[in-house]
Amino acid sequence: MQVFTSVLVLSIFFLAFIISDIRDYKERKVNSMKSLAHVIGLNSISTLEFRDNEAAKDILYALKDVTPEIVHAEITDKDGKPFASYTRPGTPNVNTPGVLTGENVQLTGEQLFVTDNIINTNNELLGKISLDFELSELELIKKTKYRLAAILLLVALGFSFVIAVVVQAYISRRLLYLVNNMNEASKTGNYNIRISDAGKDEIGTLMKGFNKLMQQVTESQQRKDEFIGIASHELKTPLTSIKGYLDLLNLVEEKQPNKQFVQKSLESVQKLESLVKDLLDVSKIQSGQLQLNITAFDINELIDETIASMQMISPSHRISRENDPGPQMVFADRQRIEQVLINILSNAVKYSPGENKVVVSTSNNGTELVVKVRDYGIGIPQEELTDIFKRFYRTKNSSVHISGFGLGLYICRDIMQRHNGKIWVEREEKGSSFYFVLPINKQ
Ligand code: ADP
Repeated sequence: MQVFTSVLVLSIFFLAFIISDIRDYKERKVNSMKSLAHVIGLNSISTLEFRDNEAAKDILYALKDVTPEIVHAEITDKDGKPFASYTRPGTPNVNTPGVLTGENVQLTGEQLFVTDNIINTNNELLGKISLDFELSELELIKKTKYRLAAILLLVALGFSFVIAVVVQAYISRRLLYLVNNMNEASKTGNYNIRISDAGKDEIGTLMKGFNKLMQQVTESQQRKDEFIGIASHELKTPLTSIKGYLDLLNLVEEKQPNKQFVQKSLESVQKLESLVKDLLDVSKIQSGQLQLNITAFDINELIDETIASMQMISPSHRISRENDPGPQMVFADRQRIEQVLINILSNAVKYSPGENKVVVSTSNNGTELVVKVRDYGIGIPQEELTDIFKRFYRTKNSSVHISGFGLGLYICRDIMQRHNGKIWVEREEKGSSFYFVLPINKQ
């Protein structure tokens, strides 16, 4: 834009300059030719009075050296009859408009034609003088000016381009830096990012705006985290006591439909309890208080147990194990790894309505143990594969029909990271495969 504007402005400037220069040149030439015609007229008075056309020719002939651009000069008497004329040697055919009537100057293209009256001291009209002048110089002047303008334009264009590149690089670098920080914040969810040394220009204002926004996001997140922490703590105690009483009622109540009502209430309370548990975990993760209780245990045994208990509560699906490689000891928090497994398995069941198959498999490459849970359900769009591990994130295709809070995978990811492990998901032709990796520490 900068280069384009400079070129446009300079072109307009040069064009205006050249046009006005050419106009000045023509004006100057017209004036000088008018003066010349007048002087020749004055000198020709006596030749006309004495009808000495030889002397008149001599006067005109002198023009050959004085003004070589004159192609043709002619003196006519008062009746308009030719008296004396001069044609520049070598001029093929003279095409003059003759003696002008009315106007005494005519400018057409490269030809200037001037006519003047020859008047004696008694104010009597003796005749007319006309000069035909060739403005051949004009073309040369035009060419030189246009060439000069083109060279200056090119030099200006070069300068403008270099300046534009330098300025652009400076602007782009800072804008890209800002964009990268924005992307980083949105990708990682780390809103503690701040840009130092923002500067005082418009981009600096933008950067300060970004810092302010990040500050507000951090503060509102802190308030939200505090609220989640307090609310889940406050909910936990009454919920435990409700569940206790309902358990008791379930035991003692025999009559229907009362027993059925109690059992329905228990199911709902269990859902609430699991939500409160998740919220408490999130709050612990946020405050860095999620502790691991590391012990050595056989993970294959844990996988089998978890599959068995999940199978009990999910009769609609068949959860199977593809391979059984025997005992595999790992050093990890058994309860937390079980929590990860339960979350992935229950998602596999929950997000495959109408399907009935979930397959678990494990592999071991000597340093890491990989657990894979494959389902044949609704699947996850490519662009949301990493987002689902964010807090409260639910995919667009699932959130409408299937209930959930978008907390489980966020907790799973944190648990795996604390174990120096990994968790991710891959798209399958139908459904998806969740993987988690635990390092096998032989010591
Ligand atoms: P919740 O299931 O309670 O919403 P999660 O954190 O466990 O929370 O899962 C986050 C989101 O990831 C889910 O809302 C769902 O959109 C998507 N998701 C998780 N597992 C699967 C799966 N096996 N198939 C399809 N979508 C899944």
